[in-house]
Amino acid sequence: RTALFGDDKTEVREYFNTEGFSRWNKIYSESDEVNKVQLDIRTGHDQTIQKILTWAKGDDMAGKTVCDCGCGVGSLAIPLAQMGAKVSASDISDAMSGEAARRAKELGVENADFYTSDLESVSGKYDTVTCVDVAIHYPTEQMAGMIGHLCGLAEDRLIFSFAPKTWYFVLLKKIGELAPGPSKTTRAYLHEEGAVREAMEKAGFRVAREEFTGTSFYFSKLIEAKRV
Ligand code: SAM
Repeated sequence: RTALFGDDKTEVREYFNTEGFSRWNKIYSESDEVNKVQLDIRTGHDQTIQKILTWAKGDDMAGKTVCDCGCGVGSLAIPLAQMGAKVSASDISDAMSGEAARRAKELGVENADFYTSDLESVSGKYDTVTCVDVAIHYPTEQMAGMIGHLCGLAEDRLIFSFAPKTWYFVLLKKIGELAPGPSKTTRAYLHEEGAVREAMEKAGFRVAREEFTGTSFYFSKLIEAKRV
């Protein structure tokens, strides 16, 4: 990595505190006007969230502790808290965690705490750790360490999603990068599913459930891994 491109984490934090915040806050809302691509991403992301909530409905979440890393505006943390879980949610972006806290307050949700932190600095032990669509901001060589850290926080299970690295998505990403116009986003990293599973297994977890969600512009592999 050359100095020219700077540090990924600093760039991601800055992006989600400024341009990225307005863009994603709109995508992660129901009412705001969005363009076709953003609407497609909103739909895809919502499908991932609904799949996790369907899993959670089958488990008894009442009184369970949940740590949501990279919580964004609270799209997952808030409904989990509404199911009775005690949620501790954080995001590297102050704007994001602040918006999540604001939304929770507006909905009268009390059993969720929101704070600003990069996920490496999150500590403690929780029944469930969730980390949804955050790995896209992690370079390949940092992904396994990230999963190891998340597993270390989880007593029982980790719910993790990522954009899978297949030839088709690599091609789509290339086409996206070639599209004219100013870059509106940060670099995106796809991950080999085998490497994700290996990192989970190394941390003493086994895959219990999995799902894939794909719309035109949104792709996310979702894995629930349980401590063996
Ligand atoms: N998990 C949320 C959801 O599914 O609604 C938000 C997903 S959004 C695509 C990615 C989020 O990850 C952003 O809010 C960003 O600020 C956060 N993020 C990126 N890198 C992070 C890091 N190293 N530690 C904590 N949060 C991070």
